[in-house]
Amino acid sequence: MMSDLRDTVILGSGCAGLTAAIYTARAGLKPLVLEGHEPGGQLSITTLVENFPGFPEGIQGPELIGNMKKQAERFGATFELTHLSKVDLGVYPFRLETGTSEIRAHTLIVASGASARWLGLPSEQALIGHGVSSCATCDGFFFRGKEIAVVGGGDSAMEEALFLTRFATKVTLLHRRDQFRASKIMLERAIAHSQIELRTNAVVDEVLGVEEKEVKGLRLRDAISGGLSELRVSGLFLGIGHEPNAKMLAGQIDLDEEGYILTAGNVLTTRNGVVVPGVFACGDVQDRRYRQAITAAGSGCMAALEAEKFLEARGH
Ligand code: NAP
Repeated sequence: MMSDLRDTVILGSGCAGLTAAIYTARAGLKPLVLEGHEPGGQLSITTLVENFPGFPEGIQGPELIGNMKKQAERFGATFELTHLSKVDLGVYPFRLETGTSEIRAHTLIVASGASARWLGLPSEQALIGHGVSSCATCDGFFFRGKEIAVVGGGDSAMEEALFLTRFATKVTLLHRRDQFRASKIMLERAIAHSQIELRTNAVVDEVLGVEEKEVKGLRLRDAISGGLSELRVSGLFLGIGHEPNAKMLAGQIDLDEEGYILTAGNVLTTRNGVVVPGVFACGDVQDRRYRQAITAAGSGCMAALEAEKFLEARGH
């Protein structure tokens, strides 16, 4: 196996990882970015980003992320379209395996983000790609002229429902409670939209159509009465949040009960509460509270500055 020694390796190429790449590249650390399963992260599958400062008219997520990547490359960051199969933080420089190569790293910046969450129903899993999706921007086009449902009560669900009205004739937004997590502005937009119907206390019990290999409808359960009903739809989109991608580090750094990386002093990782020198975490993989593009970028910057400081203190 080939071995490559790097000053800085960044896991993940979303907003946090790319910001860390821009900063470490400008500091001359020639970072290697392992792009992971979802290159560009969540922004690459979103539509208009209206709240990233500096873009008064908003900017498309893929364009924003593409610009960040170009900016990092301009300063010497390199990218590999791969993900990690193994990490060993017990040796220094840290040892990382990608399946085809071994990389040794003086500093590691974990920016592996979070991935879409599923309901976990066997019928849902069986129909992924056959009418069940967690990415409206990727798959919305296939539902032109059809009726679909979106599950969730947060901003992601509102955003997906609003976006999907471009294709679907009707979008039923199903939420398991009657209180929404979504911001007021997003919720109001969904409520006001003539093609969106909001249904509360609605739990998806089963996705219908497994035998036909395409979504035919949903069996819904009323969370209060327990009563069952059917909703005829051709598609189901999940907008129920994300799970942090930190499993490969379990046991080597501290994670919280939901699997988010616990950080001290913003981006320092710990093991049994003691700081792990040289390993930093930023973005959604360590942020269960804010989870915004701008906060991810901010923490990516912090991780880069900490990595730089760490290497400088070692006379690197
Ligand atoms: P979220 O705020 O955590 O909301 C997840 C929603 O899914 C909740 O309503 C939750 O229901 C529901 N849910 C979770 N598991 C479920 C299950 N098994 N079955 C049914 N429903 C389930 O996640 P998010 O909407 O992805 O937003 C995450 C962060 O990104 C937020 O800070 C948000 O503001 C931000 N964001 C912003 C924008 C924007 O500004 N344009 C767009 C997208 C996301 P309960 O409420 O009952 O727990």
